[in-house]
Amino acid sequence: MRVTDRKQRAELMHAVEAVFRHGRLVLGPEVEKLEKQVAKRCDRKYAVAVNSGTDALFLALKSIDIGQGDEVITTAMSWIATANAIALTGATPIFADINEDLNIDPDSITPLITSKTKAILLVHFTGKICRMSEIMKIAQKHRLIVIEDAAQAFDACHHGQKAGSFGFIACFSMNPMKIFAACGEAGMVVTDENDVYERLLSLRYNGTVNRVECIEPSLNARMDTLQAAILLKRLRSVGRIAERRRKIASMYNTGLSECVDVPVESKGCRDVYYSYTLRTKHRDALKNFLEQKGIETKIWHPLLMPEHAAYRKKARGKYPKAKHIVKQILSIPNHEKLQDRDVRYIVESIRGFFKGKKS
Ligand SMILES: *Cc1c(COP(=O)(O)O)cnc(C)c1O
Repeated sequence: MRVTDRKQRAELMHAVEAVFRHGRLVLGPEVEKLEKQVAKRCDRKYAVAVNSGTDALFLALKSIDIGQGDEVITTAMSWIATANAIALTGATPIFADINEDLNIDPDSITPLITSKTKAILLVHFTGKICRMSEIMKIAQKHRLIVIEDAAQAFDACHHGQKAGSFGFIACFSMNPMKIFAACGEAGMVVTDENDVYERLLSLRYNGTVNRVECIEPSLNARMDTLQAAILLKRLRSVGRIAERRRKIASMYNTGLSECVDVPVESKGCRDVYYSYTLRTKHRDALKNFLEQKGIETKIWHPLLMPEHAAYRKKARGKYPKAKHIVKQILSIPNHEKLQDRDVRYIVESIRGFFKGKKS
């Protein structure tokens, strides 16, 4: 697939040219502009642009002093970057269970809390916001800091409140697969806290102040100006992309709810469908069947985070539902460029598979 259509390509090339002209290739003016616009878009005071979602998570944890001896409760089901960010600070990830909605189950959090627990790092998986009011209550009661991994949920809403505006800090990824996508690696941290903001600015450039003196060891995580210039252009179409994906999801829901468990949108929610993930106990057979029909599907992610080799031996937590559900999930095509006829073909194919079968 081509990266962009012709008109969009011309627009992006124009933005790239402008960066070449002024020549400030890292943290240039477009980066600052992007930070302002992203902060505004998700109702936050501050945004700090970094060079990946993984860096965003790692620096966010560092900025609130998470480290050796601390425990951070997270979900069992996410891309491994979530657990890695915790582990790399020296803290221990503790894996909570998920619900039918594939997000962290608030009820599974409390039993995992110990005197060492410092934070909850939740993930708005598939572009659906977690059950935030319950999670915030638990966090308040136990004095835990809430961090949102909103990498898959840019522009998602819950009763008008934006993903990334619930926690103390929130992190986004703008890698090319995400809904708000750069043409390379990019990420963002947002917060309302001035202290955290100042610390993030330092952490993103080797822990330096005034770019001269290092006050704490860190990495270089600055955003390329080229990516910021591209993201500024693309920010304008994020809303449209999310709407198209929501339309595709509703077509799928209508056509497929008799055969599989379709993603359910809670009242007052605007899910953005980073993936459209259905559930069926015939997952593997369905996947093979669709492949033969020329329909690409994906299992995001076949391994729970605690089941990766890096964590398997000493993973802590409790996630029986996640272990069961991960064998049933399948993401079917939901890119905004799909035509209605493509969606209908996919629906018909899946219905064909289930004809005469009891789901
Ligand atoms: C994509 C993603 C990340 C990592 O972002 P990168 O920009 O690829 O480093 C982290 N968490 C989740 C849930 C993601 O989907």
